[in-house]
Amino acid sequence: MDLPKLAIASIGGTVSMRAQAASKGVIPTVSGETLMAAVPELTSLAHVNVETLGMLPSASLNFDFLLSVLSWANYQIEQGAVGVVITQGTDTLEESATFFDHLWNHDEPLVLTGAMRSAAQAGADGPANLLDACRVGLADNSRRRGVLVVMNGQIHPAHAVRKTDSMALQAFSSPIVGPAGLLSEGKVHYLRPTLPRNVLPLPQHTTQKVALLQASLSADTLLLENILTLGYDGLVIAGFGAGHLSETWAEAIDDIAKKIPVIIATRCGSGPTARSTYGFKGGEMDLIRRGASMAGFACPRKARILLWLLIGCRRQDDLARYLKEDIRCQQP
Ligand code: ASP
Repeated sequence: MDLPKLAIASIGGTVSMRAQAASKGVIPTVSGETLMAAVPELTSLAHVNVETLGMLPSASLNFDFLLSVLSWANYQIEQGAVGVVITQGTDTLEESATFFDHLWNHDEPLVLTGAMRSAAQAGADGPANLLDACRVGLADNSRRRGVLVVMNGQIHPAHAVRKTDSMALQAFSSPIVGPAGLLSEGKVHYLRPTLPRNVLPLPQHTTQKVALLQASLSADTLLLENILTLGYDGLVIAGFGAGHLSETWAEAIDDIAKKIPVIIATRCGSGPTARSTYGFKGGEMDLIRRGASMAGFACPRKARILLWLLIGCRRQDDLARYLKEDIRCQQP
């Protein structure tokens, strides 16, 4: 039978974890081939090329490694794959998804999945998530949707998805917009039409450093004051509420924003930053006056990835435009 080509890469995470000995705790050891063996149905759906590109807990992934995974995925599409699936740890899945989404220049879907329970645990979710991710990767209606995250029967858009629970099976959600779709009886359903996408060029520079700090009550300014001398090229702050800082942090921003891009996001976990509501010192209107950009709907981690990529392709002067577009894209 003429089956479509699908490519799967495993790079680690709980989905690839097993304990080497009782009471030692699980670590990534399971190859992509072994993961695939847990979903025998796959062989009747596609010709699968599966490769193990890494064995890392997702906290230890980095942008250089993700760029090499992206280049592997690009090659798979050139070789005729109708979709690509990547299995990785869930802890930073929202960040890799965003990273890839800014750079994924194909109509074919790039689908990320993982597991909340390792293979050794009762009710392990890895095989079901992998099968669902493959179904999404193979589905015609997944085309022109960029990068998707498939977990626990739901499909999330990369720009909105966040890990919002540390241990639960239902660990991922897309605040405000909700999931892009779902799987039911093996079928892939989308709840919204496709949106136009704006892909960035590959970064020519990868040594830039973008700091991410979180505002907290009665925090000192020591780290903030040293951001420039430490050599950072950009700064993101997870601010209070609608994107606010204390007076002392606001004053420290003056100097920094004259030299490097500064983005203020919200630490709330859902909702946008404001632009024209609060006029107090440290409020968003004051911070914009001091040269900061507001993140809009982008959460602090996604804002940091955008800034890192923009600096990497020398487009940081376009930051405001990209943050605005991010808001537009997130409207259902
Ligand atoms: N708990 C994580 C996971 O779900 C570990 C990791 O992100 O690698 O995969």
